[in-house]
This record gives sequence, C-alpha cells and structure tokens, in this order.
Amino acid sequence: MSRFVYADHAATTRLSDAALQAMLPYWKERYGNPSSLYAFAQQSKSDLEAARAQVAACLHAAPEEIFFTSGGTEADNWALKGAAELRRAKGRHIITTAIEHHAILHTAQYLEKRGYEVTYLPVDGDGLVTPEQVRAALRPDTILVSVMAANNEIGTVEPIAAIGAVCRAAGVLFHTDAVQAVGHIPVDVEQWQVDLLSLSGHKFYGPRGTGALYIRKGLRLPPLIHGGGQERGRRSGTENVAGAVGLAAALKEAVEELPAESARLAALRDRLLEGLSALPYAKVTGSRTHRLPGTASLVFEGVEGEALLLHLDARGICVSSGSACSSASLDPSHVLLAIGLPHAVAHGSIRISLGRENTGEDVEYLLKEIPQVVAQLREMSPVWDRETQKPTWVLD
Ligand code: PLP
Repeated sequence: MSRFVYADHAATTRLSDAALQAMLPYWKERYGNPSSLYAFAQQSKSDLEAARAQVAACLHAAPEEIFFTSGGTEADNWALKGAAELRRAKGRHIITTAIEHHAILHTAQYLEKRGYEVTYLPVDGDGLVTPEQVRAALRPDTILVSVMAANNEIGTVEPIAAIGAVCRAAGVLFHTDAVQAVGHIPVDVEQWQVDLLSLSGHKFYGPRGTGALYIRKGLRLPPLIHGGGQERGRRSGTENVAGAVGLAAALKEAVEELPAESARLAALRDRLLEGLSALPYAKVTGSRTHRLPGTASLVFEGVEGEALLLHLDARGICVSSGSACSSASLDPSHVLLAIGLPHAVAHGSIRISLGRENTGEDVEYLLKEIPQVVAQLREMSPVWDRETQKPTWVLD
C-alpha cells in the first residue's frame, strides 16, 4: 500500500488546529457585523482589530497599516492598480520582474493596455534579480517597483531589503508580493523598506480566501473595491471576521515556529535536492543558497512534468509541475524559461514543497518513488535514447 505524501505546500496548506479553533466562534456565536453599533457586534469589531494588531506585529508594522483582503491575488491587484492611479500625475512607468506570479504579471499587462509602460527585469540562472538592475531601470517617470519576495515555482528568495533601499533613495514606491515568504522566512517591513506588501492566509496554514495588504502609513492608496466603506474606507465589503481571526492565529503560530521549523524543513529539502539531483540529467532549479526552506524544485530531461505528476499521484504523492495555476496549461512555465532553460527541459519540471506535516519518512518515500517513475517515463519517452541513456537532443 502506498503512503500519502502531501508535498505541495506552495499551492496551499492544511488549516492549522489553532486557526480552526480561533475561527469556530465566528460562525455560530459571534456572528455580529462589525459595522453594527450594539455591543454584540462590537465584540466582532474588537476581535477583528485584535487580529489586525496580531498580523501587524508579525510583520513589524502598525495595525493601521494592515488591510484585510480576499487573498494574495486581490492584494497584488490592489497594490499595482492603486499605485498606478495614485502616482499617475508623476509618471506611467512600472518596473517588475519576468518571474512574478500571474497575479502581478496579468495586472501589469492590464495596466499596459491602459497607457502604462512596464519593464520586466530578466533574472539570472538562479532566478535572482539584483538591486543594481532595479537602479539601472529607474527613470524619472518610474512610479512603482514590484519584486516578489520569494518565487512560487523555484523557491528563490530575492534581495528585497537591498532593492527597498534603492527604491527609497529614488523616491519610488516599492511593492513586494510576499505570498510565499510570510510565515516561512523572517519578514520585516521596516528592514525591507517596502511601501506595500501582499500576503495570503492559505500559504501559512490559515484559511483559503483570506489575505492582507500592508500599506505604509501616510500612503493614500485608493481603494480597488468600492462600497460600504469598511476597512477605513479602503476596502469595502462586510468583513470576514472568521477569516481574519484565522489568518492572524495561523500567522502568529507560523512566526513563532519559524526558526525551528525552517531549519527542520531546510534539512529535509536539502536531502531531497541532493538525492534527486544525483540522478542523470537532473538539475536543481532556483538558487541553492537563497531559497525557501521547504521548496525543492528540479527538472529531469527526457521526462514530461505532467506525466511525472500523474504517475506520482498514483503512488499517493501530491507535488506540482511549476505553479498550480499553470499546471492546467501545456506551455512551459514562464519562470523556467526566464532562468534560461530550453523549452524541452522546462517541460520536465517538478516542485516539491514540504510543510509542517512532512517527516523524514516522507522524504525517504519520495527519494524511493521519484527515481523509479523518472526511469519508467524515460523508457517510454521519444526524446530519451535507451541505448546511451541520454536525451536524444544532447549533442555530446
Ligand atoms: N503570489 C504568489 C507568489 C503566489 O504563490 C500566489 C498563490 O499561489 C498568489 C500570489 C495568489 O494568492 P491567492 O491564492 O491568495 O490569491
């Protein structure tokens, strides 16, 4: 009988017990609308504010700088569209990177259609962008720089504090999509010198459909969603108190556990990377040193990522090929192409993202099953030479 190994924590995580317990009262007992004036509802309001303060403390922010959203996608949309509108009179130039999540890339493309100009910075073979690249791309009409804190496909962690310093010195707004970073690596909005930061609850064992945007005090970012004026007029819609409370409880727990848990996960990740990169024609993608603790990503030549995924699924293993959103498409991931992989190689990608429930035995199971499946798929592959045990298109 095969084991069940969930190793797709970059896609989503299981709700933590602490978050679930914190949320339960808000479905049946404390259901008051925080905007209502009677004491019963004001309890919901004060619990919401306590959650906001808890989230702020985890980011070294002030409570009034935290705005709850429906997730990372909304926070990213709000940051880019809001900053574009706010600084419209100053200029129309935005800088981002080629490896952002589609929540950023598609929003940037939307803005391009509305008269903004976007520079997509290339990355090196590890997926890293440098502060010097950002500085060199700045123009008098640059209004916003948006660089992700950690990449969702290859786990590369970007030099956010150094990029923040460049933007601050130039007087340009700086946003970071920290959806994969918050709860997994230390995040400090002061040290990073960010003006805007997006986070998502379900990436750190909080509920799906919850998130927040950090907006630096004094920055009058216009709302994305208009209506009843909740969140101090900045994000309308009756507040998801249960969601905010669950997100805050999950984040507090993740931040408290971070030092020990990140060391534990990094050791498991490195075991995986070592074992799997030793296979012939296998290559680690992303930086070995600037890397999320739980993310192992590789490419296997002569293998189709989708086939690998399905064969592993049959053995009880949940992993991704690229990001969850791009798994439905057959185009190779834009991130893998940006780090310089040829199409044929990029197709053979796998992302194993470890989390709280994973153990050393899980890693042993992955190290046993993945090589078997890779070998099996290569035996059937038209681009694998069974004679020489090499990809057919390799010239040497
Ligand atoms: N940004 C990054 C880097 C992500 O990995 C994701 C989700 O995969 C998002 C944004 C979108 O977040 P959400 O699922 O909360 O909308």
